[in-house]
Amino acid sequence: MKLNRRKFLKVCGAGGAALASRRHSAEAAPRQPDPGQAYGCLVDTTLCVGCRKCEQVCNQQHSLPAPEASFEELTVLENERRMNETTYTVVNKYYPKNIGTLTWRQRPTFVKFQCMHCNDPSCVSACIVGALTKQDNGAVIYDAEKCIGCRYCMVACPFQVPAYEYGEALAPQVRKCTFCFEYIQNGGLPACAQVCPREVMTFGKKAELLDLARWKMKNNPGKYVDHIYGEHEVGGTSWLYLASEPFESIGFPKLGAKAPPRLTEAIQHGLFQYFAAPIGLYAILGGIMWFTGFLNDKENDTDAGTSDKGDIQ
Ligand code: SF4
Ligand code: SF4
Ligand code: SF4
Repeated sequence: MKLNRRKFLKVCGAGGAALASRRHSAEAAPRQPDPGQAYGCLVDTTLCVGCRKCEQVCNQQHSLPAPEASFEELTVLENERRMNETTYTVVNKYYPKNIGTLTWRQRPTFVKFQCMHCNDPSCVSACIVGALTKQDNGAVIYDAEKCIGCRYCMVACPFQVPAYEYGEALAPQVRKCTFCFEYIQNGGLPACAQVCPREVMTFGKKAELLDLARWKMKNNPGKYVDHIYGEHEVGGTSWLYLASEPFESIGFPKLGAKAPPRLTEAIQHGLFQYFAAPIGLYAILGGIMWFTGFLNDKENDTDAGTSDKGDIQ
């Protein structure tokens, strides 16, 4: 590879700029919309009967492939399922566990899962090209045009939501619930909330949903566990849940209140603070060594050329 001094300096400059911009991106926390003013959904799991109408409408609304078993088939609820690249939402069935006195309601709990649309989403923070973004209305949406298929978002999500189209040979995408972004942006409801015959989901401003959840708990003593899942988990989520069983027993991960991006941010800052300078220095030293070698080679070439001439003479 031919490289002159000007090109070498350009390479060093570009490396420095890359380091500087990387450092900048690590330090700058992404702007977050006001969580109270963003939209959310309050899911009252005590009302759900596991009819799967929400799964069906989501499938139709997003033109997803038809599932193997039809949406009328309710035996699928007997096995715990997960979202995948063709299924943005699933309803699971949990039988009461013998935990203390909380088994008063001897019926299963049905829980609808989808992307939680976190206030401070790990998937957004992990995406190095900005293919996932948190919108002012609360939705976390995906731009396939920007995605490079690194799948960091899948690793980062504490709820293991994003799914990848491994079977798609040409242009695989990351897939997950969109919060029906186009609808809610135009004043509509998410399709699943609209179709639910039991009005399990209440759509609205998150601050109002929290008030409603507290009102329900206060006015139905003993009906709900004293916990609104998503109020504090991972810094808060747009989707909130009420339940009559402890959330760990109905498929919810036990998570802390700190948003994971804020934890990794602290680590990143530490790394960049202490290692960026040495890394940059090593890069420059390596470049100088390479360039010195290049000059020596040139000199040797010249010497060799001179001696060759001598030999001919
Ligand atoms: S449509 Fe409503 S009641 Fe039926 S499974 Fe979904 S959330 Fe439950
Ligand atoms: S649940 Fe996962 S995919 Fe959804 S916004 Fe949160 S981190 Fe992102
Ligand atoms: S909000 Fe829209 S995309 Fe998300 S689960 Fe409901 S219907 Fe599906």
